[in-house]
Amino acid sequence: MRFKPSYAPGPTDVRENVRLALAKKTNNPDFDKEFVHYYHEVCQKMGQVMGTTNDVLLLGGEGILALEAACASLTEPGDRVLVLDNGIYGEGFKDFVSMYGGEPVVLSFDDHQDIPVQQLRDFLEKDHDFKYATFVHCDTPTSMLNDVNQISPLLKEYGILTVVDSVAGMVGEPIDVDQNKIDICCGGSQKAISAPAGLAIVSVSEDAKKAMNDRKTPIASYYANLQIYLGYREKGKLPYTMPAAHIEALEVALDNILEEGLMAVYERHAKIANAVRTSIQAYGLSLFLETGRSNTVTAVIIPEEIGALTLQQHIQETYNLYIATSLAQYTDVILRIGHMGENAHFDKVLSVLTVIENGLRDLGFEGNGHLGQLFLDAYRAEN
Ligand SMILES: *Cc1c(COP(=O)(O)O)cnc(C)c1O
Repeated sequence: MRFKPSYAPGPTDVRENVRLALAKKTNNPDFDKEFVHYYHEVCQKMGQVMGTTNDVLLLGGEGILALEAACASLTEPGDRVLVLDNGIYGEGFKDFVSMYGGEPVVLSFDDHQDIPVQQLRDFLEKDHDFKYATFVHCDTPTSMLNDVNQISPLLKEYGILTVVDSVAGMVGEPIDVDQNKIDICCGGSQKAISAPAGLAIVSVSEDAKKAMNDRKTPIASYYANLQIYLGYREKGKLPYTMPAAHIEALEVALDNILEEGLMAVYERHAKIANAVRTSIQAYGLSLFLETGRSNTVTAVIIPEEIGALTLQQHIQETYNLYIATSLAQYTDVILRIGHMGENAHFDKVLSVLTVIENGLRDLGFEGNGHLGQLFLDAYRAEN
């Protein structure tokens, strides 16, 4: 297949040393005892990046498997589960909960603002009889960042376990699993970590393990069953053949992050994201969000007379570049600029903004000045 550059919010660019790691010869992960040890080392490194000493598991599968495994492993028939919704993935958790027999209670907020903590507190004061709650750190389709520092500890105050989807948040935004008392934190290899798609990541707290052990009914899954995984792990084994090459590649991607330094990585994301937001608005376009703007992706409203889908298609055909619109009701409304992981670099973002400007102009939208220049100015002003 011919390579076409993409600036969607994931999968992101994979650095050469990570791609080369995929090509290494690997030992048979089923027979090589050293492999189990190696697997745990990479899990620990992943935990270091997520800010946790909890058990971390790397599952062969895409990020969605992490979300499903969390819900499959915690939900028993009849369990009430609080689903916090201010975005597409946030609401989507209700489907995993019901699929495994739980009763999702969806608490919906305005999609333009991050979850209002006081409103959540007021709700919990009246009703907190939930086994666990779900929410999304960065809800990518609208670029929403929820305040994990506040929300997760608040839920724990009421004895509610927390499942957090940080697939598109971690590494681009601090997640600090232990400090934030997250029971199951979900990640994926292909977003800000910038490894190839193919690994789902979960951290599992002691409270989450206890909830699994205290179940009266068995977990209704094999591949999405975290208890089986943890059981094998205790015996120094792994439940099935692990994608060894992907784990080697993930390790190199994590080394890249640790070598740059987590704080420096967060700062790089913040600088790029601030400059994108400033330049988009100076150019005369509007951001979708009022508050909670994630540093990993920016959602831009495309004028109705053009439409996000038409712009996307035009840019693909004319400039050979993939950019993302959104999902569900926002598909034709929002254009998303992904600036996470290896895509959060000045030169890459400059080129995508230049292409977007050209695309908009071709379709009749004239902004103020040049988007690329505005981005450059905003970026320089940050330094
Ligand atoms: C990308 C993403 C996932 C994983 O799903 P995809 O199949 O890669 O779309 C899960 N949650 C969020 C918030 C994501 O951005």
